[in-house]
Amino acid sequence: MTMIPTVKLLIDGEFVESTTSEWRDVIDPATQTVLARVPMCSAEEVGRAVAAARAAFPAWRNTAISERARVFLRLQALIREHMEDLASTLTREQGKTLADARGDVFRGLEVVEHAAAVGTLQMGEFAENVAGGVDTYAIRQPLGVCAGITPFNFPAMIPLWMFPMACVLGNTFVLKPSEQDPLTPMKLAELAQRAGLPPGVLNVVHGGPEAVNAICDHPDIKAISFVGSVHVGTHVWQRGTQNGKRVQAMLGAKNHAVFLPDAQREQSLNALVGAAFGAAGQRCMALTVAVLVGQAREWVPEIVARAKTLRVNAGHEAEADIGPLITPHAKQRVQQLIERGVAEGARLELDGRNYQVPGYERGNFVGPTIFSGVKPEMNIYREEIFGPVLCLVEVDTLDQAIAFINANPYGNGTAIFTQSGAAARKFQNEVDVGQVGINVPIPVPVPFFSFTGSRGSRLGDLGPYGKEVVRFYTHTKTVTARWFDDAVTSGQVNTTISL
Ligand code: NAD
Repeated sequence: MTMIPTVKLLIDGEFVESTTSEWRDVIDPATQTVLARVPMCSAEEVGRAVAAARAAFPAWRNTAISERARVFLRLQALIREHMEDLASTLTREQGKTLADARGDVFRGLEVVEHAAAVGTLQMGEFAENVAGGVDTYAIRQPLGVCAGITPFNFPAMIPLWMFPMACVLGNTFVLKPSEQDPLTPMKLAELAQRAGLPPGVLNVVHGGPEAVNAICDHPDIKAISFVGSVHVGTHVWQRGTQNGKRVQAMLGAKNHAVFLPDAQREQSLNALVGAAFGAAGQRCMALTVAVLVGQAREWVPEIVARAKTLRVNAGHEAEADIGPLITPHAKQRVQQLIERGVAEGARLELDGRNYQVPGYERGNFVGPTIFSGVKPEMNIYREEIFGPVLCLVEVDTLDQAIAFINANPYGNGTAIFTQSGAAARKFQNEVDVGQVGINVPIPVPVPFFSFTGSRGSRLGDLGPYGKEVVRFYTHTKTVTARWFDDAVTSGQVNTTISL
């Protein structure tokens, strides 16, 4: 009998076994093979991780900025070196294709590169002579212990949105990755230790509600970064802020792409199909609603034809375009939503239910699914499906398309496909969505900008990475200073410095 490995905690630089009595299986979604067992940590174990982070803080905050940055310079090199191992682990536990898994790691790697160059972002401000002989300056100081709670769908990128920027700014960190795919984050934590992060600067715990609530309640945690669903994120935001913490919560989505009839048809429809069905639709930036304006409504058969060419298979198979959903429950939920769409009167143009992949009969596969004639009151439109299901909506004008998008409760990402600069500019100006793409389907900003979101897609004012996260993970202290020196002002001291 083969032993199933356990996922360790990282506390004070040591990878240790949890003492909990509650464990969950980490399961390959293509085969249902149990890859590992993950502990559901108690509040007491979270407390140990926080204590280690608190103890490490005084020395780390006073470590030179460039020395802290060099750790992340080494980490980015190690991530590059281990890219294939990280991607294959990610595919095994999460299901996405190897190409998508590499992308997941790469988008996180870019944040690590940015962390390695943090110096200028951390600089404060200085004003001389705010009054006679008085100067004022503002310095940015780290907060202390920060925590991160991450979702299952990007197990490399999203942990890397968080701890590199928090730690390079002088904070220490407790990460609670998704219990559904904790192996990739643990590999990243190992690499961070190898890169020279001192013991206690990064700690990792695992679990569900008890661990998350312990993070929200712990008095020594100053800030929480959360990425995940609206339901859990709203809870974390409310509980964390009630306890006096800063909380940034990046939440769910329903992302629309607008197609004007003048769009480059070939490229635009390829982009739509990739962004709707890639990663099996389990992306917070997936384009799940296409708004076809005017004559673009005639493109439905072409969209369906393209979707049919996508190959559904286990993520590590070379010919896979779309992998499985994360759990059998997720598959069942998506299939029920499709059934509901049919019952509510949407036209099912392509049905991905009961999809069979030879050799992977137990995989959580759902094939590309397309509905046309979707109306705003239908459940398939109102809910974030988080599966490979595309809703097609038809309108007559760009104004109607913008009004339609702005009436949706979410505001994570959107895109417009057109060759008209004026139309694109109007869209960018009027649409109330955080990330806007112009002929770009998934406009996740590079790390020197910040990820954002509006309306129901985010709580808190400052987003992950970039300048916004520097503000989130630091507080500003202003110093107003006057120096009395009778000898200098009376001219008795030679103030010329000889070099
Ligand atoms: P989730 O909310 O179920 O889980 C997120 C985290 O919360 C996990 O670490 C999980 O262990 C924890 N958690 C789950 N249930 C909990 C509970 N009852 N109490 C306390 N903690 C709990 O999200 P998910 O299913 O892992 O991820 C998918 C969601 O994340 C989607 O809604 C997606 O849109 C969203 N997401 C948003 C962004 C963004 O930037 N806006 C990015 C990625 C994913």
